[in-house]
Amino acid sequence: DEKKLKKFYIGSIDQGTTSTRFIIFDGIGHPVAQHQIEFSQIYPHSGWHEHDPKEILTSVEQCIEKATQAFIYQGHDISDIKAIGITNQRETTLVWDTNTGEPLYHAVAWPDTRTKGIVRELKAKEGADELQKICGLPLSTYPSSVKLLWLLKHVDTVRKAYEEGRLTFGTVDTWLLYQLNGKDRKYFVTDATNASRTMFMNLNTLQYDDTLLKFFDLDRNKVALPKIVPSSSPDEFGALAYGPLKGIRIAGCLGDQSAALVGQQGFTPGCAKNTYGTGCFLLYNVGEKPVASTHGLLATVAYDFGGQRKPVYALEGSIAVAGSGVQFLMNNMGFITQSHKISELAATVEDNGGCVFVTAFSGLFAPYWIDDAKGTIFGITQFTERGHIARATLEATCFQTKAILDAMELDSGHKLSALAVDGGMSNSNLCMQTQANLIGIPVDRPAMRETTALGAAIAAGFAVDIWKDFDELKEINQKDRMIFEPKITKEESAKMFKKWGKAVEMCRGWLD
Ligand code: ADP
Repeated sequence: DEKKLKKFYIGSIDQGTTSTRFIIFDGIGHPVAQHQIEFSQIYPHSGWHEHDPKEILTSVEQCIEKATQAFIYQGHDISDIKAIGITNQRETTLVWDTNTGEPLYHAVAWPDTRTKGIVRELKAKEGADELQKICGLPLSTYPSSVKLLWLLKHVDTVRKAYEEGRLTFGTVDTWLLYQLNGKDRKYFVTDATNASRTMFMNLNTLQYDDTLLKFFDLDRNKVALPKIVPSSSPDEFGALAYGPLKGIRIAGCLGDQSAALVGQQGFTPGCAKNTYGTGCFLLYNVGEKPVASTHGLLATVAYDFGGQRKPVYALEGSIAVAGSGVQFLMNNMGFITQSHKISELAATVEDNGGCVFVTAFSGLFAPYWIDDAKGTIFGITQFTERGHIARATLEATCFQTKAILDAMELDSGHKLSALAVDGGMSNSNLCMQTQANLIGIPVDRPAMRETTALGAAIAAGFAVDIWKDFDELKEINQKDRMIFEPKITKEESAKMFKKWGKAVEMCRGWLD
């Protein structure tokens, strides 16, 4: 049976915040060929964070090319690749000219905080309190809506295109689908998980909502918004129009965090996963109805497999800085030369030595939502070494995860029994042990940690009937998982967490 399944392959484009990957999976979820390219992070001013849309596209094209070469070199046959899935960084906002397909500005990346002022104004506007009930997201610098408003306000070419009715808005999925289909407007689409991060979509109808568009003062005759379709779909996403895999159908599309939930097979209500990438995102499956949070979490579409299946929703805890804190110690401070060396450095000391690092480089997201917080290190003395700061950097994400789990327990009324993890920073055993210690439940890490890419492959596989039932996936990626059991007492972890809480309170309202 295994042999038979292995004849199927699915390609997965994983367009993340810092790198792009293309992975070809076999029918039992093993990656057989892959390629990864890091691309430029553009920081024109403090708080600004951009990507070049063309570089993003080129990185995808090159990854497909290289991974396919490796696939062929291993003796496989391209005709066995049955479909392609796409997963992508969410919220990141692109605008292009409807007539030419040419970008009108860099992509404004999701951690970018230039919209702080706009957000402050919008919060004071009538109707602001009603938005979250409709779309699941609070007003903050995070969603696409405020990024688009900034572009309209500050970039002449964008404003002009809007006035002339030739402005197109899209998230990264839409940009890639449109380009990879050879700029065919028929495939000007987005999936429901990506659309649920724009603040333009009604969570219940999964369609654009007039109340939301009116609040943001957007005229749909002047800006084209992509059609919202299910995440798993044989016909909506088109096919690759060029390159070595030309003609292969794109059949799955999921925002990266949704893809990771699918890749971890969090298909039943009560399942949760936490992905430690550039940022860190905890998604908790709440079933077929959205649950509105009253404790600082987001309500979002987990995945929508279409057809007879109802869309599934999640509560989400978003942390802006996780792996990017490690990058900061490496690129800005020169503490380490490669990100994996952070664990070694952190292990040179026994504990954080009293240091708490609130890594609020993009303000603080869930469950705090403090737009004007800045990164702050508390507790520095003559005793402090680089090792302490390294530890405090890893701990910052673990503390926020603990705060998110507490909020989730209050919103859902359930306590989680274990936390499935993945993402670049989950490679750090020290970080995952710290996480287990702080949340007091086991942390469960798969051996194959490309769960985001796997999730997009699963969405594509369902669309082309490779799998028909979630039960068929049960064996995938279950071998050699590593479980981190909590090793400190509740009192010890509560003491650490109290210090963190104090630090968060003190980092509010720093003057610009
Ligand atoms: P994304 O999809 O957001 O681009 P990834 O899941 O690829 O992110 O994770 C990349 C991040 O993980 C980087 O910020 C990197 O610093 C961090 N990272 C990678 N390996 C390790 C490691 N062994 N220990 C700690 N952090 C790591």
